[in-house]
Formats: sequence, C-alpha cells, structure tokens
Amino acid sequence: MSLPRLRAGDKLVLATHNAGKLTEFRELFEPFGLQIVSAGELGLPEPEETGTSFAENARLKAHAAARATGQLALSDDSGLCVDALNGDPGVYTADWAGVPRDFGHAMQRVQDALQAAGATTPQQRSASFNATMCLAHPDGRDVLYVGKVEGQLIWPPRGSIGHGYDPMFMPDGHTITFGEMPAETKHSWAPGQQGLSHRARAFNQFFEAQIEK
Ligand code: IMP
Repeated sequence: MSLPRLRAGDKLVLATHNAGKLTEFRELFEPFGLQIVSAGELGLPEPEETGTSFAENARLKAHAAARATGQLALSDDSGLCVDALNGDPGVYTADWAGVPRDFGHAMQRVQDALQAAGATTPQQRSASFNATMCLAHPDGRDVLYVGKVEGQLIWPPRGSIGHGYDPMFMPDGHTITFGEMPAETKHSWAPGQQGLSHRARAFNQFFEAQIEK
C-alpha cells in the first residue's frame, strides 16, 4: 500500500499524548519543514490501547487521529522487550509506570523482575526497544514502519536526559545509556543512515518511503 509523499509545508498530525515521544518526533521532522501538531495539542481523546501487538496499537492510534482530524496521522507504539522476561513489559511498557506515570517505579519493577528471574550477567539482561509507526489516511489506508535497537539493562539507572526507561538502557556498542545521550546521539540519524534508537530507525523507514526529497 502507498500513501501520498509529504513535502515541506504539508500538515501531519502526530497521534500521541506522550511529551517525550513528541519531542523526539519534532527533532526528527523539523529539518523537513512539515507542520506538525500532536493529538494531545489538538485536545483529541486518547484512544484505549486494547491491541496485543505494537502494530495493532499503532494502527488504532493513527486511525483514531486521522478520522478525528480528516488529515494524515502518524502514530508510534513502542516499548521495552526484556529477553529474560519473555518479552515483557512489551505492549504494557507504559502500564508498568502506573497512573500517574512514574518511570522510577517502572524501572525498579523491571529490575525486581530481573532479580527474581536470576538474570544478573549483562548477557542475561539483554533487551530491545521497539517502535512501530503507522501512517494512516482518513480514508482508511495505512502503512507501518518498524524500528528496533538491542542493548542491555544496567542498574542503577544513569543519566537524566531523555524520557521513560532511557536511564537503564545501554544500546549495544555503547558505554553510556540513552539517559546519558544528547538527542543527536540517541537518534544518530541523517539521510542515508539507519539511526540508533528504535524511533530513529522506524523514522528512517518512514523517511525513505514518505518524504519527498
Ligand atoms: P506507548 O507506545 O504509548 O504504549 O508507550 C510506550 C512506552 O515505552 C512509554 O512508557 C515510554 O516511556 C516507553 N518508551 C518508548 N520509547 C522509549 C524511549 O525511547 N526511551 C524510553 N522509554 C521509551
């Protein structure tokens, strides 16, 4: 399936209410001159994430925003999948932070679960961040873009840059966590490069397919 390519000046609704994701999206999109507005900024209701996969939830969020605005909408459903926890928290990554969201608590919960599973060595503490983006047209068409980054979970958490579980995730090939990386390093994306973070890698697929060069 294909959708019209986007060019400078075009409007795009970002189907998110998550401030951390919105900041990262803006950093990635800014150079292309797209007019970005988020579902949160438009006061759209936050759809319930009833899917059991990143793709299902990404579709649900993008279509809700596209239907509500009559415009192209891009969503991101993402999460942390821990190998020793059989992929948990996965699609429930945000839920592990409780309401209101407390990511210190969420990281402690992951750490406790790893301890309970006897996962103590770096190899046993492997994990990945995953992002599935969905671009949805108000007429019902959609396209998915997927990004993943592998790494290990360190304890105690390090760094205060970034959001969510960033301070306990150290991507493979690096000696600092996402929480210690400036945004440019976490993205490490430029045209022609795949990027480092799951979001930058999914964005790269989107960029290749959807942005007019
Ligand atoms: P959802 O996509 O709205 O279901 O939420 C994804 C969850 O994963 C949120 O709790 C985020 O904080 C977390 N998450 C997603 N991407 C990142 C990231 O790049 N760094 C840290 N946490 C992330």
